[in-house]
Amino acid sequence: MAHDTPRGAPLLGCIADDFTGATDLANMLVREGMRTIQTIGVPEAPVREADAVVVALKSRTIPAGEAVAQSLAALRWLQSQGCRQFFFKYCSTFDSTDAGNIGPVAEALQKALGANLAIACPAFPENGRTVYRGHLFVHDALLNESGMQNHPLTPMRDANLVRVLQRQSAGKVGLIGAADVGRGPIAVRERMAALRKEGVTLAIADAIADNDLYTLGEACAGMPLVTGGSGVALGLPGNFRRARLLIDEGAATRALEGLDALPPRGAVLAGSASQATQGQVAHWLARRPALRIDPLALARGDDLVRQALDFAQAHADQAVLIYATAAPDEVKTVQTQLGVEHAGHLVEEALSAVARGLREQGVARLVIAGGETSGAVVQALDVRALRIGPQIDPGVPATLAIDAGGRPHCALALKSGNFGTVDFFEKALRALGAAH
Ligand code: ADP
Repeated sequence: MAHDTPRGAPLLGCIADDFTGATDLANMLVREGMRTIQTIGVPEAPVREADAVVVALKSRTIPAGEAVAQSLAALRWLQSQGCRQFFFKYCSTFDSTDAGNIGPVAEALQKALGANLAIACPAFPENGRTVYRGHLFVHDALLNESGMQNHPLTPMRDANLVRVLQRQSAGKVGLIGAADVGRGPIAVRERMAALRKEGVTLAIADAIADNDLYTLGEACAGMPLVTGGSGVALGLPGNFRRARLLIDEGAATRALEGLDALPPRGAVLAGSASQATQGQVAHWLARRPALRIDPLALARGDDLVRQALDFAQAHADQAVLIYATAAPDEVKTVQTQLGVEHAGHLVEEALSAVARGLREQGVARLVIAGGETSGAVVQALDVRALRIGPQIDPGVPATLAIDAGGRPHCALALKSGNFGTVDFFEKALRALGAAH
């Protein structure tokens, strides 16, 4: 590992190809003791007090050339911050097409870093994603029989990742098999040396148990580039700790320093129609104040944003829920009348405007349900970076949004649709220190 970077500079620089994937990765790094900041796109300002930085891009399904350009811009910025190892994060179901973007982005980063071999491992056994003899399983099904073969943007019709990655890469793709991974980091390093001799530049790595992820992480100590799902990042913080580069006591709780100074009011915004969110909304409705945003009324031009803000103001002594969440048949009806995209856009716009209005009312602690919804709200609030705090539920950390000067300006819990227990909203408000 190079030792010529400034003291206190981040160690690990990550580039994630989507927003909630970035949060998932950041959550993982914090769990393993790294102080982690997630940025929304490539920031202008430098980061402070972080061991890892995750740049969240939206590059999974854009044209490969653009994904490469954005990823290289992120790399240059992370290098300028002093990072000494880089991680390219993609989905645990290897979401991509023959045109990219995993292969082209990985190869462009390798070239820029002078890296002659990088592993590619989407596995995360704890979440049912395993790779064996190069084949990706989603629980008990091969990737191409898991439902992912019908994905609208990145249909995965081949479970053999060596073949999948080869089709989108210029260099030679090889395999680090389960037998080598099972024998530990030294065996993996020997296999990597053999693959280099064969001219392999990207190596799919098997992992069938979470322990394999730690083995792979350890084997990648000092390598300039690692690529994979959030699982394989579990093994990387240990390398920095062993090199005594990580001061990790209380990394997650310290991330929320400054939270107490924010005004106490909190609120929940739900733009997700996923099953878990439906249960969470129903649970809230039985106990606490809530107002529904009806997309058809939005389409008619009703000022539901004003109504929601008045409602919140009338209940200023407690947290309210503003939600568009509806049962699948209701969503279908709305989508048939308005079109899928238009309906989604209307709801996202409305909830973003509600978020802005609530901030003006002094609400500084927000729980947001929905991946796309979270992206829209974060953009509307002009959030540039998030300090990642303790996990509320698997995959969802409490975060503190910071402005360009590094000052906290609101606390956020961003939940993708199917995450969280039925009482998640209350739990998240508590984690954000909101009065409710
Ligand atoms: P999830 O994480 O559950 O997929 P997202 O926020 O990513 O949630 O996506 C949900 C999409 O559905 C958003 O675009 C949102 O605006 C839209 N939506 C939410 N409620 C409704 C509804 N009642 N009718 C139609 N579309 C809706």
